Amino acid sequence: MTNGITLLDALTQALGADAILHSEADTAGYVEDWRGRYKGPALCVALPGNTQQVADIVRLCNAHATPVLPQGGNTSLCGGSVPAATGVPPVIVNLSRMRRVRRVDAANNSMEVEAGCVLATVQNAAAAEGRLYPISLGAEGSCQIGGTIATNAGGTGVLRYGNTRDNILGLEVVLPDGAIWNGLTALRKNNTGFDLKHLFIGAEGTMGIVTAAVLKLHPLPTAHAVAWLAPDSPQAALDILGLFQRACGSRLSAFEMIDINQLDIVMEHVPGRKNPLAGKHPWHVLVELSDTGNSAELQDLLQQILEQASEQGLLHDAVVASNDTQRAALWEVRHSVSEGNKKAGVGLTTDSAVPVSCVPRFIEDATQAVRRLVPGLPVLIVAHLGDGNVHFIPFFTFDAWNALPERDAMAAAIRRAVNDVSDALGGTFSAEHGVGRTSLAEMAHYKSPVELAMMHALKNTFDPANLFNPGRLLP
Ligand code: FAD
Repeated sequence: MTNGITLLDALTQALGADAILHSEADTAGYVEDWRGRYKGPALCVALPGNTQQVADIVRLCNAHATPVLPQGGNTSLCGGSVPAATGVPPVIVNLSRMRRVRRVDAANNSMEVEAGCVLATVQNAAAAEGRLYPISLGAEGSCQIGGTIATNAGGTGVLRYGNTRDNILGLEVVLPDGAIWNGLTALRKNNTGFDLKHLFIGAEGTMGIVTAAVLKLHPLPTAHAVAWLAPDSPQAALDILGLFQRACGSRLSAFEMIDINQLDIVMEHVPGRKNPLAGKHPWHVLVELSDTGNSAELQDLLQQILEQASEQGLLHDAVVASNDTQRAALWEVRHSVSEGNKKAGVGLTTDSAVPVSCVPRFIEDATQAVRRLVPGLPVLIVAHLGDGNVHFIPFFTFDAWNALPERDAMAAAIRRAVNDVSDALGGTFSAEHGVGRTSLAEMAHYKSPVELAMMHALKNTFDPANLFNPGRLLP
């Protein structure tokens, strides 16, 4: 209480009662994560409608020494977007009411959007102007631009377009002291000192609240060719990737690999999903070419490369989508992995990236490492192979998980075993999901003291009271 008024009352006065949720029923969808793994109390959920209101909320939280938890679509896979079970309950600042597409500048290949815009809405607004916003991922129907910026999200287009960091031109941010930084530049060149936007991209809400962004757009591809392949092995998949890269250059826009265990789960647990191939093959790749030319040419190119791969003994089988419906159906299989896994059991999703050339070795060594801990443990592979990011997922049925002694310690040991393998190959434990709470111990273990000290120094400068997302990202 400050000056006799509670924070809840002050927030209600500032934003209006309809923008402050505090009953258990009203806040239920905001205090628990998508998979039901993390849950904690919040003082309230604030739903600001503009940047000034975000700044007002932050100033009031400062005055009441209350933590601030920025929240987007609440699709975080690492416990980053909901309160912890212990500690001072934060004010969740959910950006969903700030969802205006402010401007699309087609000639500049850029668009300015508010942080609460859902990713799919942004993609559609860009497409309406003949442009592409290339970040694409399974949660795109619910995650927000602000969340993807805060986590530097990757997804299926990184191979060609880079990750979120590569597609941001400018940001507007409310800083931890309540000041508003207007960095909404739409420039591609601007060498006027530190490029401050990068302090907030991937910072997981620890340095401020992103309220708006200028996004980089690309020409909207009008031609597509998509195939589903069964390579002989991960090494064969890599060799096929090389064939595509040499023949197609930047027209190669996705190269995604899953294993048969993962495909089986999708087929069993997600209605309508089928194995695109007739046989039961151990490895599966979805490849996409896209361009602004015509689809027939791309289809020919795709066919030629598949023939080459087949002649070289790299491929067991392949099917090429012959129309948009078939193309969408193949992508649906790929995008259904998270839904299938959630229904099937408990996957200890890891988020390694290794040099692309090391992926086969990583999969082999990590499989052995986890099976030394739990003999015979099933493993699922979901890899953005084109950029070396492998979600290596040791997987338990619900029964096996419930019967596991000392579950938390075992889960931590399994993750560490996988991360040790990627570390030994020059990789990282967090390629695209972020650190959140799940990987705090990994940050402490793998980051050098020098790097951690620099991060803490920056954090202390911006947020000396440590009110923004305490207990996330920084150990
Ligand atoms: P939230 O989950 O709400 O928040 C995530 C973090 O960002 C939290 O720390 C939060 O405090 C912070 N934050 C949110 N909004 C703001 C803001 N405006 N300002 C400052 N901080 C903020 N990720 C990938 O990279 N690639 C994938 O392929 C991928 N696939 C996924 C598939 C599924 C089905 C799901 C559920 C998730 C997937 N993810 C993937 C995880 C990914 O991180 C999120 O989907 C997305 O980037 C988070 O956006 P969000 O709006 O839901 O953020």
